[in-house]
Amino acid sequence: MTAWQNLINQPGAIIADGAMGTMLQQAGLKAGELPTLWNVEHADRVRAVHGAYLAAGARILLTNTFSGNRFCLAKHGLAARVDELNIAGARILRAEIEAQKKQGEALVAGDIGPSGELLSPLGRLLFTEAVTGFAEQARALIEGGADIIWIETMADLEEVRAAVEGTRKASAAIPIIATLTFDTHGRTMMGVKPETAAAALNEWGVAALGGNCGNGPDEMLTVIEKMHNAVRDAILVAKSNAGAPELVNGATVYRAAPGTMAEAARQLRAAGARIIGGCCGTMPAHIAAMAKAVLS
Ligand SMILES: [Zn+2]
Repeated sequence: MTAWQNLINQPGAIIADGAMGTMLQQAGLKAGELPTLWNVEHADRVRAVHGAYLAAGARILLTNTFSGNRFCLAKHGLAARVDELNIAGARILRAEIEAQKKQGEALVAGDIGPSGELLSPLGRLLFTEAVTGFAEQARALIEGGADIIWIETMADLEEVRAAVEGTRKASAAIPIIATLTFDTHGRTMMGVKPETAAAALNEWGVAALGGNCGNGPDEMLTVIEKMHNAVRDAILVAKSNAGAPELVNGATVYRAAPGTMAEAARQLRAAGARIIGGCCGTMPAHIAAMAKAVLS
């Protein structure tokens, strides 16, 4: 049995981790600095974030490779380092799971984020190029020890399809989680509705699907309700931000307290979400409170 099947065959909710980006900013990551580069330059700080989420109860954790595709790396002149940075990202998380003796209990989810480009015909990125780029990243994440691939913060369903196809080129069998961001009047920035995304992802055979990031738990609840109605048997994922982002003195802040996110976790679970974690602004204290709320 794979690590994924082992986790999913147990009854009840499964806790995923919280934000990586906001945690790395607290650890000194500067605006404009590429978080993925920290997998080699400050591996200890990345590992400390994973460690805090593991201790908080997270059992699916995402590698620090959100911007690890060649399209994002190219903007920093780092396109040649896809393999190195993704392998390192997966190994850091794997090492922390082993150090906390959580092998077989906690999964390494190889994180694939958006290309940052618009797909043709709206933009310049060809579908086939996107597939090749995502395949390259997925291959490196798997080489580094990823148990599953988690495609996240997507807005364009075609780009998700490219990432799913790319992952399938890297491995025919690895489980895939895919989550989109429904932050624009209940749809993604590209106009995709939750029920449309859920039906498509289900058809493509992903292991679990849902939403991440966005405008906080209230909107996430609506997303989960719509997805649950559209695909009754799918494993649903909710990874909400800690409230809607607010701009204060040029910085983005998220105000939802751990208690607020814990109550939200309870509601998301009742609405059909099985895998529950946090996105921007959520920290280990939020994840610990959410774990307590849905696991007890
Ligand atoms: Zn987010």
